[in-house]
Amino acid sequence: MTAPDPAQCRRTSGAASTTRRCSASFFLLSRVGRDWDEVYSEAVSRLDRPDPIFWMVARAEDAKKPFVLMGESSYCSGLFVDADKRLAIVDPNLRVEHMKPGCACCTHTFNGVAFIQKYDPDDG
Ligand SMILES: [Zn+2]
Repeated sequence: MTAPDPAQCRRTSGAASTTRRCSASFFLLSRVGRDWDEVYSEAVSRLDRPDPIFWMVARAEDAKKPFVLMGESSYCSGLFVDADKRLAIVDPNLRVEHMKPGCACCTHTFNGVAFIQKYDPDDG
């Protein structure tokens, strides 16, 4: 068993930007089921830049992902706009219990909740 290679770890020192990205994801998650046009205009007015919205919200069918990496080791639910133009979760059944960390040195979170599974170097 070898220690994780720090070069392969996504950890950076951008704590402030991570916090900002997470506030975007919490905002979007709290608006699931709402009209997308209203959510989008409110999100743009609140955020200093719209990028995190487009990391989380898929704009094409083949861009839909069950989860997205928001920076460092913070994962959030992947979102999309459904046929009724409402914000929806790509995989509502995906929970933090299912998430596997990619290294041992970081605290990984899913929608702000720390992963329950521990890093397993033999996995995958
Ligand atoms: Zn790490």
